[in-house]
Amino acid sequence: MRTPSPWAVLVLTMVLVELWVPREVYGQPNFIVILADDVGWGDLGANWAETKETPHLDQLAAEGTRFVDFHSAASTCSPSRASLLTGRLGVRNGVTHNFAITSVGGLPLNETTLAEVLQEAGYSTGAIGKWHLGHHGLHHPNSRGFDYYFGIPYSHDMGCTDTPGYNLPPCPSCPRHSADASRVVRKDCYTDIALPLFENVTIIQQPVTLSSLATHYVEAAARFIRHASDSGRPFFLYVALAHMHVPLWDPPAAPSSGRGIYGASLSEMDALVGQIKQVADSHGKGNTLLWFTGDNGPWAQKCELAGRVGPFVGAWQRQRGGSSAKQTTWEGGHRVPALVYWPGHVPAKRTSRALLSTLDIFPTLVALAGAVLPPNRRFDGLDVSPVLFGWSDEGHKVLLHPNSGAAGKVGEIETLRLSQYKAFYTTGGAMACDGSIGPAEHHQPPLIFNLDRDMQEQEPLDVASREYQAVLPVISRAYAQALEDIAADNVSVADYSKDPAVIPCCNAQHVACRCHAALAATLELHTERRTTRLCL
Ligand code: MG
Repeated sequence: MRTPSPWAVLVLTMVLVELWVPREVYGQPNFIVILADDVGWGDLGANWAETKETPHLDQLAAEGTRFVDFHSAASTCSPSRASLLTGRLGVRNGVTHNFAITSVGGLPLNETTLAEVLQEAGYSTGAIGKWHLGHHGLHHPNSRGFDYYFGIPYSHDMGCTDTPGYNLPPCPSCPRHSADASRVVRKDCYTDIALPLFENVTIIQQPVTLSSLATHYVEAAARFIRHASDSGRPFFLYVALAHMHVPLWDPPAAPSSGRGIYGASLSEMDALVGQIKQVADSHGKGNTLLWFTGDNGPWAQKCELAGRVGPFVGAWQRQRGGSSAKQTTWEGGHRVPALVYWPGHVPAKRTSRALLSTLDIFPTLVALAGAVLPPNRRFDGLDVSPVLFGWSDEGHKVLLHPNSGAAGKVGEIETLRLSQYKAFYTTGGAMACDGSIGPAEHHQPPLIFNLDRDMQEQEPLDVASREYQAVLPVISRAYAQALEDIAADNVSVADYSKDPAVIPCCNAQHVACRCHAALAATLELHTERRTTRLCL
């Protein structure tokens, strides 16, 4: 018998390794997905050397893999979260813009969430933090696949608090008496209803005490991880932080970096992530995959209270007015920090340039759990576990970026990424710090930037150039195919109708729905009690 060549042995070994390694070695791993709000790509020290406030995240990067071409599926809150939890863009799952505190609907009920799939696969599921996918009736997280929920139903500036802290414009505290409620304040401040804090379906504080929210989130995460570990079941914990969506509370201490309130808030978030990692490690290092990322880029109109985009400044748009960050399809709007930490499985000290998205979290975790994707719908995300394991650096060939409210038609696919090229069919700028807004401009043929040479998106390719002429047919074909695919899919429609009766309200008899202070304080000490409606 002939001896096989070394090459044949190598190929056979690689095939066997690929087939054998994952499921046999890790069984059903635990998952923690931490989603920061409005964090900039440049807010991670490992990405951007000027940032000094993230030692724990930088350590996470050193002990795991850092993804530098990673994108949120939309550049504003609700659509981004809906896409993460469904693996589908807003044009498919129906969530194209943010829900309001009066929204009757939420993420359409015929969409299947990642939590529902993992719950079915035997996982214990928990959500901590900002939900913002509908809070009325069956849209509540407990009805969307999460066994446990602790958090606020929408953004932390969508309701008044007693210590409002920092915002632009500064907003007043909650009214305490009906006479206060008639105060005249700027319309971009929420003042009529206090921000509630839920544990499962119970409001345990209204208004929430923002200064202790980070601590409560860590405690809730530790409690959930402990209970899940004690039960012997794998867990999926989704932590959607209030940070960095304007620092509405007094952070404990300003760091020495001189970055003021925003920097202090960034430090607080960094410490919070470090604490959650520590808790996970204490229940068995290597048992839990931790994925940190953001829902969209910085909220530029908040000026010094907004994050850093790093080099992704969207110079073409900024020359024409408006911001090129949150709500836009410029890189500053959707390129977000991304780290994956899983000792023993995901390589440490690795930087990947694969083109990835928050859309990939759903199919990847489903694959790692040994579960199957829901039928009768198409997914925009990919199972990128080979990229996580370091076997490949191949991500998306094409990635679509929807309008998220800057200009143009919300939800529409305005921009397409293909390899190093990015084509804009519509441009527009969100409100900038100076109050300017970049109007919608349609481009046919599209503006095309080569991000390898021009990550600032400053100078589109000359339409007459050989490079433009070579890439345009490929981009046009990919764009047409993507739109055809969406048109042929099972798409959902979200109910964006409004009704003041659906606003979460602890005590309708009291101004701003405030719970009695003594009662709320007592309840704070008894957050383990889940089923009793304590605050009505
Ligand atoms: Mg956000």
